[in-house]
Amino acid sequence: MTSNTVFLYDTTLRDGTQGEGFQLSVLDKLRIAERLDAFGIHTIEGGWPGSNPKDVAFFREAKNLPLQHARLAAFGSTRRAGVAVKDDAQVRMLLESETPVVTIFGKSWQMQVTEVLRTTVEENRAMIGDTVAYLVGHGREVVYDAEHFFDGYKDNAQHALATLEAAAQAGASWLVLCDTNGGTLPSEIMHICKAVRDRLPATPLGIHTHNDCELAVANAIAAIKAGATQIQGTINGYGERTGNCNLTSVIPILQLKMGLPVVPHLEQLRDLSYFVDDVSNNPHYARAPFVGCSAFAHKGGMHVNAVRKLARSYEHLEPASVGNEQNILVSELSGQANILSKAEQLGLPLAKGSPEAAAILKRVKQLESDGYSFEAADGSLELLIRRELGDHQKPFDLTEYHTSFRQYRDGHPPVCEATVKLVVGGTPELTVAEGRGVIHALDRALRKALMPFYPEIADVSLVDYKVRIIDGHDATAAKTRVLIVSTDGRTRWGTVGVSENIIEASWLALVDGIDLFLQRSISQESDP
Ligand SMILES: [Zn+2]
Repeated sequence: MTSNTVFLYDTTLRDGTQGEGFQLSVLDKLRIAERLDAFGIHTIEGGWPGSNPKDVAFFREAKNLPLQHARLAAFGSTRRAGVAVKDDAQVRMLLESETPVVTIFGKSWQMQVTEVLRTTVEENRAMIGDTVAYLVGHGREVVYDAEHFFDGYKDNAQHALATLEAAAQAGASWLVLCDTNGGTLPSEIMHICKAVRDRLPATPLGIHTHNDCELAVANAIAAIKAGATQIQGTINGYGERTGNCNLTSVIPILQLKMGLPVVPHLEQLRDLSYFVDDVSNNPHYARAPFVGCSAFAHKGGMHVNAVRKLARSYEHLEPASVGNEQNILVSELSGQANILSKAEQLGLPLAKGSPEAAAILKRVKQLESDGYSFEAADGSLELLIRRELGDHQKPFDLTEYHTSFRQYRDGHPPVCEATVKLVVGGTPELTVAEGRGVIHALDRALRKALMPFYPEIADVSLVDYKVRIIDGHDATAAKTRVLIVSTDGRTRWGTVGVSENIIEASWLALVDGIDLFLQRSISQESDP
């Protein structure tokens, strides 16, 4: 480790999910973990196995994730007071998560020890030391999160420092100073981090800040200036109360303003931000620094005129460096770069500056203005690119479909039914199916109709379905966006549909989900 390296520790999947309105299923967490890994995050905190069964399930599944870059961390607390560490069920679950990194938090603030834990300061230090040593003894890299560190230090610095010493002596690899309540100022952060640095020079320091004073990013940067080398935060700043340190802001500041390279592909930052919003079913925050759609928007006539002549007159950095774009002069080149890199990922031939690339970009922009979002719908984007490149065989022609919902008076459970009529290679097919809901019935009827022609679609199943109402420019025409995730048991792909009608939007996403699978099977068959 060199002195100019900063390690990124993402806690979107743990601290992020403690934020209001930010819920993730196990599948969502797996998708986000893969994406964080591809982006170049160093450590991904996946959850707190001792606090909920969902996180236990996540760690079970996460063992099979093909992570290239990141290491997974399980989060938990020190052993309980008066209990031997080997008998503590919560600590045992941390080991059972089988992650290379384990992060535990302990109390640094004397008041929390005596008033909340109701134990002695000596027992508190033993709880920290025992737990760290036990986990290190089991081959784990241990990150020690010092909860309420700054408040604790201001209250009783000797006590706070002694808790860090207990963790360091027991073999913790990192001492992470937490501004748990988010009330500390950057000047205090810098002063206290330096004091800790001087007292415990041998163990690297990290910083974990919350945004209660809108200072989480500034506080993290202050800690780096004072010698910390790890930042804990979340994508888009999701987290408890007003949120955590926003990695989406911290990363470009480190890389572009401080000359500390932390990720290989900063130009994928905006896409990552949108992906996490889409997967968690949250709206994009337009005024988000760096990644928001207003971050490089120019409205005032004089500004527009100036940026046309010289972008840097009203822009602090090149929007494309973070994957964003200037909002008036839609930069065809930066837009094309995104499409080209996606085509390359998919192994589809697309040349820079080609008429196809321009046509695809135009189509993407038009669909996005109609309410589409492709960040979590890689499958629909692949289909769009294939169609423009002429690398698409239409699997069927739709004649009509029909859905119904019947509620009975006598307590009989309601019935959803769908009819699908389509033509495959000149052969008409008509099927009817029932389902738990209208979309379920429609999905079943569509598969039933296609099965005689494409038996391989039996492998495809729908694993996630999300609905979002997009604010229309006029309230009468609000649109629905449906995101679907399908799998064939080996890979997963997302597809999207948008319509003023939820059934139509769902149909579009369902059809794309199956269509993509068929196109990929066709190209595999035709490969030499
Ligand atoms: Zn926190």
